[in-house]
Formats: sequence, structure tokens, C-alpha cells
Amino acid sequence: GPPPRRMLERVVEEVCAALIAAEPELTAMDQAVGDGDLGISLTRGADAVRREFPGYGTEDPAAVLRALSATLRRALGGTSGPLYAVLLLRAAAVLEEAGGDPTPRDWARALAEGARAVSELGGAEVGDRTMLDALVPAADALRQALDGGAEPCGALSAAVKAARKGTAATAAMTPRRGRSSYLGERAVGRVDPGAEAVAIWLEVVSRTLCE
Ligand code: ADP
Ligand code: MG
Ligand code: MG
Repeated sequence: GPPPRRMLERVVEEVCAALIAAEPELTAMDQAVGDGDLGISLTRGADAVRREFPGYGTEDPAAVLRALSATLRRALGGTSGPLYAVLLLRAAAVLEEAGGDPTPRDWARALAEGARAVSELGGAEVGDRTMLDALVPAADALRQALDGGAEPCGALSAAVKAARKGTAATAAMTPRRGRSSYLGERAVGRVDPGAEAVAIWLEVVSRTLCE
């Protein structure tokens, strides 16, 4: 396969393509429980990343995540904008601290700490029916699988499964954070769009790296 630095570029491109392709689905989901802008926001973010990525001028993973954070902070908007910006910024800091070529464990810690930063900024916890219901189980599954000696792709596949399961579980949760909290019980039965978006991009990361 291509060298690792090219892999990161490919993963980013595939994630952008997938989020743009999912725009109608995410829009419909956010229309049902929110204000309907998530699909458009993520598409705007993906377009900005495609435009700006070639100008990042670095192939260092931490620096790339930092640059992605800046792009999304400007382009994404909504609630997702600052949350994704802080997720990527914290993940970048973890990779920086690890130094050099990050290992799968470093990436797992970056995801877990990124999720923690989202929780700190937005005040939501697992069970509040947000993107954290996909992110946190995915990060836990990734770390547990690696701790248990799984190969990186086996661990990623476990993370994708956990994200999918967590996303599906949001349909039974009463929203306590974000716009859909205004809907209360009326959101029950529908999947949280922000969690769905996480499941989509994580699945693409796994597919791009491992297939
Ligand atoms: P907005 O409500 O501002 O239009 P977006 O459409 O950008 O927000 O994103 C909606 C998603 O953001 C929700 O589906 C949920 O997953 C996530 N979200 C909302 N509030 C929070 C929060 N406090 N913490 C984490 N995620 C949140
Ligand atoms: Mg919205
Ligand atoms: Mg909005």
C-alpha cells in the first residue's frame, strides 16, 4: 500500500467524500430532531478541507489534525463546528506528546482524549443522545481491543461496531443536550444525527485503512 503519510491524506479524502454523499440522509435526520443543518454543515466542512488540505504544508499527523481543526472551526458552524474543532485539537496535542510516528495506541488515546474534550466543552455525557454516544464507546472499544492484543484493523473494526451500536442506542434516549432537547420525548425512536455522522466517518477510516 501507499506510505503512511499518503494514507492519512487518503483517509481524509474518503471521509470528505462519504460525508458529502451522506448529506441528504444527515439533513433528513437533523430535520426530524433538530434544525436540519447538519448535512449542509458537514458538507461545507468537507468542501473546505478538500480546498485547504493541499496548503497545509505538512505531513506530520499531529500538525495535520491541528490544521484540520482550524479549517473546521472556520467552516463547520453550528454546534458541531466547535465540538469537532476541539476534538481534533486535543487529538493533535496527544499525538504531539507521543512524538514521531504515532502508534495505534497513540491514535486510540487521541480519540479517547478528543471525545473527553468534546464532553468538557459541550457538557454532555454518554447517554445524553449526542455524538458522544458513538465516540466514547468507539474509543473504549479501540483501546480495549489493542490492550487485548488485537491487530490494528481488528481493533478498528471493533471500534466501528461499538460506534454503530452506540448510534443505534440513541434512538431510545431522551435528548438532554443540543437542539433536540427541546423535542424531549418526541425525539425518541429516531437516531441522533451527530452520532450517525461519527459512525459514518469512523467506518470510512476503517475501510480505507484496512481494505
Ligand atoms: P445545531 O443544533 O447547532 O444545529 P449541529 O446540527 O451542528 O448542531 O449538530 C447536531 C449534533 O450535535 C447533534 O445531533 C448531537 O450529536 C451533537 N451535539 C449537540 N449538542 C452536543 C453537546 N453538548 N455535546 C456533544 N454533542 C452535541
Ligand atoms: Mg443542526
Ligand atoms: Mg444549527
